[in-house]
Amino acid sequence: MNQKQKKEISNMLSSNIVFDEPLSKYTTFGIGGPAQCMVYPKNRNELSILLKYANKNKIPAIFIGSGSNLLVADEGINGIVITLIKSFNKLEIKGCHIYAETGVMLGHMVKHCIKQKLTGLETMIGVPGTLGGALMMNAGAFGGEISNCLKNVDVMTLTGEIKQYSVKDIDFHYRHSSFKKDEIIMSANFVLKKATKQEIMNKRAKASAGRKETQPLRFRSAGSLFKNPKKDVAAGYLIDKAGLKGTHRGDAEISEKHANFFVNHGKANAEDIVFLIRLARKTVEKKFGINLELEVKTLGFKPEIFES
Ligand SMILES: Cc1cc2nc3c(=O)[nH]c(=O)nc-3n(C[C@H](O)[C@H](O)[C@H](O)COP(=O)(O)OP(=O)(O)OC[C@H]3O[C@@H](n4cnc5c(N)ncnc54)[C@H](O)[C@@H]3O)c2cc1C
Repeated sequence: MNQKQKKEISNMLSSNIVFDEPLSKYTTFGIGGPAQCMVYPKNRNELSILLKYANKNKIPAIFIGSGSNLLVADEGINGIVITLIKSFNKLEIKGCHIYAETGVMLGHMVKHCIKQKLTGLETMIGVPGTLGGALMMNAGAFGGEISNCLKNVDVMTLTGEIKQYSVKDIDFHYRHSSFKKDEIIMSANFVLKKATKQEIMNKRAKASAGRKETQPLRFRSAGSLFKNPKKDVAAGYLIDKAGLKGTHRGDAEISEKHANFFVNHGKANAEDIVFLIRLARKTVEKKFGINLELEVKTLGFKPEIFES
């Protein structure tokens, strides 16, 4: 993107825009080089103007939520990073029906559902991130997944067209959805079930305790780095048994507490995390013949860099 294009973007929008902004400020890892341009579209109209401009000028449009599942390259990203986090924040609950825009934080939505004695999402109480990120990732925890109570979503295409998908149109499985990468998810409708406060609080308490007990929540991370290769085989177990718990590279560490959490103790950069990813994949492959697949989404890297 050149200076002229940066100026054009500034002139055509009244949304909040920042240029050459380090993405380390927007990822839970605290890692990532600058985004050429980062925009918080203030409404659907501004989002549509921006997407059409990016499409016409062949500028990559990259969608992020709150960066809790992202590893961004130290060199940063070319293109326009778009997040709905500050403006697409509408949340409405009517009976068992929920309408939410995808900039809403998942935890906020879950808390409101619990208040209304609605069950279905309470096990996800500690999952960081926005609703948009949760839908894209099919986020889940302690037996619940965001897609379980989903009815439909509204997305916008790069040509500014709004489309609605019913839950049946999208393939959801473990930490995977088939949403198109060039469509931004704007809002979603859910239907939950009524339950007693006690039932919901019990499930919520179990999930919160489980998380505190097993995860290194005091340090910066992106949650589980790899997907579990099978339902009964955890990536963390394999990395642990490969003898890698506590392995350091600079300020990056394969957590002592949970080997599938790679943590940043302060000044780790993406290169340090990539080193540990390659080491973990290589060692687990050698010892168990299992090729670990990344759960975190990566931005700004050549894909082959993650090969062991
Ligand atoms: C301490 C910790 C614990 C965690 N525990 C869990 C857990 O228990 N279960 C779990 O599933 N995850 C967990 N995670 C991972 C993470 O919180 C989830 O994946 C979360 O749903 C990501 O949301 P986000 O808004 O941060 O998305 P981001 O990380 O910003 O983005 C994730 C993906 O979603 C896409 N995306 C985001 N918003 C949109 C949108 N509006 N439209 C289209 N695409 C979009 C991005 O392009 C990217 O591919 C954990 C993370 C941390 C740091």
